[in-house]
Amino acid sequence: MNAISPEPTCNGDKADLRAAASAAGLNETIERYAADYPVGPHDQPQSMCPAFGSLRVGLRMRRTATVLSGSACCVYGLTFTSHFYGAKRTVGYVPFNSESLVTGKLFEDIREAVFKLADPALYDAVVIINLCVPTASGVPLRLLPKEIDGVRIIGIDVPGFGVPTHAEAKDVLAGAMLAYARREAEQGPVQAPRAGRGERPGVALIGEMFPADPVGIGMMLEPLGLSAGPVVPTREWRELYAALDCPVAAAIHPFYTASFREFEAAGRTIVGSAPVGYDGTAAWLKAIGDAFNVPTPTIDAALNRILPPIKGALAAKPVKGRITLSGYEGSELLVARLLVESGADVRYVGTACPRTRWSDADREWLEAAGVMVQYRASLEHDLAALKEFRPDLAIGTTPIVQRAKEMAIPSLYFTNLISARPLMGVAGAGSLAQVVNAALSNTARFEEMRTFFGEPAAC
Ligand code: SF4
Repeated sequence: MNAISPEPTCNGDKADLRAAASAAGLNETIERYAADYPVGPHDQPQSMCPAFGSLRVGLRMRRTATVLSGSACCVYGLTFTSHFYGAKRTVGYVPFNSESLVTGKLFEDIREAVFKLADPALYDAVVIINLCVPTASGVPLRLLPKEIDGVRIIGIDVPGFGVPTHAEAKDVLAGAMLAYARREAEQGPVQAPRAGRGERPGVALIGEMFPADPVGIGMMLEPLGLSAGPVVPTREWRELYAALDCPVAAAIHPFYTASFREFEAAGRTIVGSAPVGYDGTAAWLKAIGDAFNVPTPTIDAALNRILPPIKGALAAKPVKGRITLSGYEGSELLVARLLVESGADVRYVGTACPRTRWSDADREWLEAAGVMVQYRASLEHDLAALKEFRPDLAIGTTPIVQRAKEMAIPSLYFTNLISARPLMGVAGAGSLAQVVNAALSNTARFEEMRTFFGEPAAC
């Protein structure tokens, strides 16, 4: 193993760390990440530690233990963030120092921790996440046993110098679990879904979404003779089999490249975009129907039933105003589509996620509507859009919201206020308008404050 300092490497030279990891035997992993999660125009958007995405996926799964291997301060930050977001589960940690790192003792300590944790009465899976320093040092999680007493052992490397965003780190773990579950399913019978197998063929839904959305999607699929399958990342191991069993996977969030690879390896069809707004719902249901060879008259009949209420909901709650929007969840383009269909003058949408073919339909639709789409958007891109377009409302990350307030522009935090609402079908058509219009109505208050306090020095 390489002698990398046990200090965190957020500000380290990424090229050096990648080279160290490659030299330590992780070349294949580093190259796969580079292909799955392409960077550019810059190499990493400013956001939280990427490993948080994998940690969050592990902590949200039943009967799953999640263990971090990394520098103490990284683990402190990740644990703090997990509990801030409401995790009620223990985060495991295997500490290390320079000596245990270079002598290989850290790997032995991880192995010992895994054996202690792997109790089949408590767990279906134990997840070990190598953070930056153990990854750069080549701590070989691949040498851990694949299974102990029936408990699956999943070791993944999630370094900040290889995985650009926490969104993509969700895919690293989801993809690793799907790969494992797919191999199990290939070898013999696997556990059935908790509620049994449904009669109608399912569509697996890829991407974390508001809990009401899968229900709404299921209602829209029903007239096509289909059903909503599990949401990936799943909340339980057996749901992985049920997801892989679905003939079609919907790339609701388009950046789950490793997960899509597993669905494709299982012979499944992937359909991009999502049922948002009128146009989005029409196109998505048509694409899903076609993927299942549903007869055209059945698709048309379903659309005739589903689309008018969406049109009505959009017209009943219009949004008037110029908006810029940015975030790192992967749903930014969908939210922008919905806002445009609600009547908003959306000028810019920035996403920290990369461009993939699964968001092409959304990008093309937005660009045709005159919206500038920026993938791998940095804070500088988002701030430049704020300055150029002087919106009536800025939706974005914390620093964008802060800057907008300094400029007396009403603003909304994407993660807490936009992601926490339904987006799909008729439920999504009215829900965004409520929060967006409430924020837009604050313009006068901001103007009053600016008049009272004067212009902030930085503006
Ligand atoms: S693990 Fe996360 S917090 Fe720690 S050095 Fe890497 S990117 Fe930074």
